[in-house]
Amino acid sequence: MQKLSEKEYKNEFVTAFDGDDSGDLKPRQTPGVLYSKATPTPVKDPKLVAWSEELAEELGIEKPDEHDVKILGGNLVTPTMYPYAACYAGHQFGNWAGQLGDGRAITLGEWEAPDGNSWELQLKGAGPTPYSRRADGRAVLRSSVREYLMSEAMYYLGVPTTRALSLVTTGEPVLRDMFYNGNAAYEPGAIVMRVSPSFLRFGNFEMPAARKETDNLKKLVDWTIARYYPHIQGEDKVLTWFKEVVERTASLMVEWQRVGFVHGVMNTDNMSVLGLTIDYGPYSFVDDYDPYFTPNTTDLPGRRYAFGRQPSVAYWNLGCLASAIAPLFPGTEELVAALETYGDSYSRKYLAMMGNKLGLDKVKAEDVQLIKNLEETLATIKPDMTIFYQLLMDLPAELAAEQDVVNHFQESFYEELNQEEREKLQKLIKAYQERIKQNTCTREEAVKRMRQANPRFILRNYLLHQAIEELERGENQLFLKLQEAMKDPYSRNFDEFFAKRPDWASKKAGCSMLSCSS
Ligand code: AMP
Ligand code: MG
Repeated sequence: MQKLSEKEYKNEFVTAFDGDDSGDLKPRQTPGVLYSKATPTPVKDPKLVAWSEELAEELGIEKPDEHDVKILGGNLVTPTMYPYAACYAGHQFGNWAGQLGDGRAITLGEWEAPDGNSWELQLKGAGPTPYSRRADGRAVLRSSVREYLMSEAMYYLGVPTTRALSLVTTGEPVLRDMFYNGNAAYEPGAIVMRVSPSFLRFGNFEMPAARKETDNLKKLVDWTIARYYPHIQGEDKVLTWFKEVVERTASLMVEWQRVGFVHGVMNTDNMSVLGLTIDYGPYSFVDDYDPYFTPNTTDLPGRRYAFGRQPSVAYWNLGCLASAIAPLFPGTEELVAALETYGDSYSRKYLAMMGNKLGLDKVKAEDVQLIKNLEETLATIKPDMTIFYQLLMDLPAELAAEQDVVNHFQESFYEELNQEEREKLQKLIKAYQERIKQNTCTREEAVKRMRQANPRFILRNYLLHQAIEELERGENQLFLKLQEAMKDPYSRNFDEFFAKRPDWASKKAGCSMLSCSS
């Protein structure tokens, strides 16, 4: 184990690329460079609120003492760190937004773990950078708790994600207009240290492409491949790499659909080029199953980033990445063909995943219809997604009468079913039971498969909301409990949280819908 302050940090990104090393934090366009040096702005009183023991163990990082907490608050930069903000662009809600960049994220350096893997350590909320535009570079406790807990929860769910190592409060208030209605208020400030092999986004490639800086673009692509996709070599490596990004993105979308995660802001600047979940903002799990559910108030008019649309938005975003790297190809034909592999790749992975959720030994051609019926039925009766699948695992083989079927799933309903819905459910369950009988594997094997595919504990927004309210009052009981529960999401060990979203939370801000204000 090593101390944060005693580490010899590596700084490969800033060594490899041209940057603006002036250290000037004034907001500006930075053509020609891929990053700007940005030293964190010290805060009044950094206090450690949470620390990810297991992650720290894996990275070989000692729990920080008071001295090292200064690093986590941005009050200390050690001599081998080179703090910088990356310059990236993006498409936001379908529109080209130009230069964005790390407006409040500052990478301090790279940490080499005992297993030889390299991790970037990044502070989120550590003050302005040249990319802060008109904003303050800070983050509130509310959004920091959400990123800290949820990124770790996703890791334990088995979903590819960036991680979070620490959460500190800053002792400084941050002004936010949470509902964008002119009622700004002060909230406690906080900083998360998040870690990832890389925080590179689609937007990092879109930036030099838009600026027609083809040399920078090519260098960034080659570097990304050499460093993060070292198994890819040879003449066609850029194409092979893009195909793999397509594959990884498809896999990520399948994983989000599996657990019912809705990101909420799938702009291209929030799409990791490693296929990780990145930038936790107004996200939510699906409570009542609804393909059109979006947790983001800003997304409400079009519901572009709704639950059921995520897979097709990812494809659209991959199209932006393809356009960005197109200058590296003589023609676009191969690139388009690679992009077009997304649909099949996604469908194949999706069906396999659904087979696991349903406990099918393998997914046959006829099962596609069953899965479609299931989706359609769930969208109609809108049960709690997590609870529904848990109850499905316990479904008796011979349950036939309509009332018995309805009773079996009662716990998952948000509303009484009408006659049509009852019949729909019964029909689905009957077809499902018939199909299960054809399994060649044992019931135990099927249930085991289901147990691994269907989480029992999910970090629901209302739970987070309650934990945040407690923390703002200086209590951390629920926070600690959630931190434990999220590490064991497939077990029955935390059944005190095995319940639908309560009524009061359905309309309450922060429990169902969230704004981007963070
Ligand atoms: P997001 O929607 O959180 O992914 O952010 C989009 C862009 O806005 C990114 O360039 C962020 O760095 C920037 N941004 C968001 N909040 C702030 C803030 N409080 N201060 C500075 N930049 C911000
Ligand atoms: Mg972002």
